[in-house]
Amino acid sequence: MTSYQPEPYKIKMVEPITLLPREERQKCIAKAGYNPFLLRSDQIYIDLLTDSGTGAMSDRQWAGLMLGDESYAGSRNFYHLEETVQDLTGYEYVIPTHQGRGAEQILFPLLVQAKGQYVLGNMHFDTTKAHIELAGAKAVNFIMEEALDTSKEHPFKGNFDLQAMERFIQEKGRGAIAAIVITVTCNSVGGQPISMANIKAASAIAHKYGIPVVIDSARFAENAYFIKQREMGYAEKSIPEIVREQFSYGDVFTMSAKKDGLVNIGGVLAIRNDKELFQRCQSMVVPLEGFPTYGGLAGRDMEALAIGLKEVVQEDYLTQRISQVHLLGTLLQDAGVPVQSPIGGHAVFVDVGRILPEMPKTQYPAHAFAVALYVESGIRAVEIGSLLYGRDPETGEDGLSDLELLRLTIPRRVYTDNHMRYIADSIARVHEKREAIKGMAFEYEPPILRHFTARFRLVE
Ligand SMILES: *Cc1c(COP(=O)(O)O)cnc(C)c1O
Repeated sequence: MTSYQPEPYKIKMVEPITLLPREERQKCIAKAGYNPFLLRSDQIYIDLLTDSGTGAMSDRQWAGLMLGDESYAGSRNFYHLEETVQDLTGYEYVIPTHQGRGAEQILFPLLVQAKGQYVLGNMHFDTTKAHIELAGAKAVNFIMEEALDTSKEHPFKGNFDLQAMERFIQEKGRGAIAAIVITVTCNSVGGQPISMANIKAASAIAHKYGIPVVIDSARFAENAYFIKQREMGYAEKSIPEIVREQFSYGDVFTMSAKKDGLVNIGGVLAIRNDKELFQRCQSMVVPLEGFPTYGGLAGRDMEALAIGLKEVVQEDYLTQRISQVHLLGTLLQDAGVPVQSPIGGHAVFVDVGRILPEMPKTQYPAHAFAVALYVESGIRAVEIGSLLYGRDPETGEDGLSDLELLRLTIPRRVYTDNHMRYIADSIARVHEKREAIKGMAFEYEPPILRHFTARFRLVE
């Protein structure tokens, strides 16, 4: 795939990070109840918890902060952002929001017409699913089957199973469907891209039945890059052309700008040309987020975002971004560590289920690996497995996730390729000593979203 590519920037300001001695790390993680979420960031050497809002801004973006126009209404930074989004996507109506879920909380109650309607998607992101459900609808996924097997190669594991989706629409009837959400890239299956052909076909099905299409566009630029690399007919197209075509198949988009917006906070809700829907969104943005020309953001934040949206579609940026994630994945593969294949856009997923097949799922193998990794190296990674999945609400049964994954999420423009080598070496060492990894048992199990605040002890 992508060949090795050095960073297309040089470093002007540095933020020191410290690797505490091993005994200190052991104390820190014990004090945190063996839950990496409860570590303080200054106890961490390399933080791979998320790529959301953790990226580095450019000198242009920092300079943009100084151009913040903090007028309550009509800030010039809003007009810069609006123009940038219109240019990039072809959508006419632009509403800033404090982050992606701010856009979701405005939009979904307006799309859902009746309780019990369905919102169909390739695979809904968790906050998107939550807002669909808060609006009274049910979120249903139609991800292709190949996506759920980490060892299976497919260039576009974010694709819809289009036939299954259309059958569902026919069975339930048009009136039962509120919207179709296309998530690019598909975060929940590991930052896997969706092909242009599949976006186009999903949109065509929706429009055949008069169903609105929402693009959940947090990683729109990374998806466009994969299309250019992997899909016939796109190698010669520019990233901005591909981005515009991607958006052309939607009616509305929501965007968490904390990913491909290259900012630490921000979001966008945009509507292609439905003026009436725009007006309804505009009237809801006021009580939920703020006046429509700032929507929960400072003028300076909108300026940084406008600049970030221009930087993220630059091909040298994307080449290095995707090749850095790929570098980490291939270093791990070379060391014999099983990872999800192909490697996604923003993260590498280690398949701990295959590393610790003997450990019961109720001892949370991927979480146990994360704890061992922190002790070994000061790296924080996050479990995506049975701990996150939770118990069956009816039976209370635990250990239910099909996959026990460890997610290594790479912040944008933050760590160098040398950090990737350190990460790969550390994981390879933990992998070699895997017999010594101890399972986890709850000391405290919260009733909902337990992974964030749970406390554990090691199973001896
Ligand atoms: C992050 C994300 C969201 C939610 O955005 P926030 O900015 O975290 O509120 C929605 N969808 C996808 C695909 C995301 O990655």
